Amino acid sequence: MKLPSSVTLCEVGLRDGLQNEKTILPTDEKVELLRGVVDAGFPVIEVGSFMHPKAVPQMADTDEVFKRLGDIPGVELRALIPNLRGIQRAIDCGCKKVKLNVSASRQHNLKNLNMTPEQSVEGFASCVEAAKENGIAISGSISMPFGSPWEGRTPVEDVDAIIEAYLKVGISEISLSDTSGMAVPNQVGELCAHVQEKYPEATWWLHFHNTRGMAMANIVAAMEVGMTQFDSSFGGLGGCPFVPGAAGNISSEDVIHMCDEMGVKTGVDVVKVMALSRRMRDLLDHNLDSYVLRAGRSSDLIGSKS
Ligand code: ZN
Repeated sequence: MKLPSSVTLCEVGLRDGLQNEKTILPTDEKVELLRGVVDAGFPVIEVGSFMHPKAVPQMADTDEVFKRLGDIPGVELRALIPNLRGIQRAIDCGCKKVKLNVSASRQHNLKNLNMTPEQSVEGFASCVEAAKENGIAISGSISMPFGSPWEGRTPVEDVDAIIEAYLKVGISEISLSDTSGMAVPNQVGELCAHVQEKYPEATWWLHFHNTRGMAMANIVAAMEVGMTQFDSSFGGLGGCPFVPGAAGNISSEDVIHMCDEMGVKTGVDVVKVMALSRRMRDLLDHNLDSYVLRAGRSSDLIGSKS
């Protein structure tokens, strides 16, 4: 099996994970958990989002969280933004990296925004300009590039058209986000190989939800064709508001544990991540979707049998 020697993981639990939780965590608690995420060794962290507080109440204090964290050398702290107003909030609180998102489902986009996905991306041009003027790095995400509840399998031409729209407005860091949990490994391998070959100027992130238990296999399939940047969420926190029964992102500790066992470096300490997940489990008062949290590490078993 062809695997990369190392991968880069972005911890998204405090954003993608937490935004679907009913329990609103106090700012102090979020800051402390994020410091724990930094201490565990994640090189990239999605801290929160600058959505309207009414739409996503859990993220209302993202500005404050950024201010309290300040700059952390060697760690990229990013936030999800919906539009130009998000850039202004990023400027005001010292956030240096933002991410936009568009749905690859044409029907979803037309129904919600009355625009095609490409028109949505064209509309991001003002965000790119404002970000560049203010020294803020900007990236883009495509949700449901593998499949959506509206259309089923997403046509590759649709994904290409959105990637081209992103490149045209000056965004070349692109995340393929399987928020609906419909991707399967052979499709992931094919799409990842295709986009890398067709758009060598772009850099890629993969974001898999474990809704149907396929996220880990999808990560391995992406790794096999040379992808090296993945989002994950400690404790497997999360869901998706418009996909009933959606599970969270693949759990960080499960990904790190697999990488450790396969000899793929992550730079993240799985034991520290497991401690964060236990803490989150206590704070939210419900079980989390993480195999390693339940069963412990494989290496913990060795010598335990006599
Ligand atoms: Zn997600």
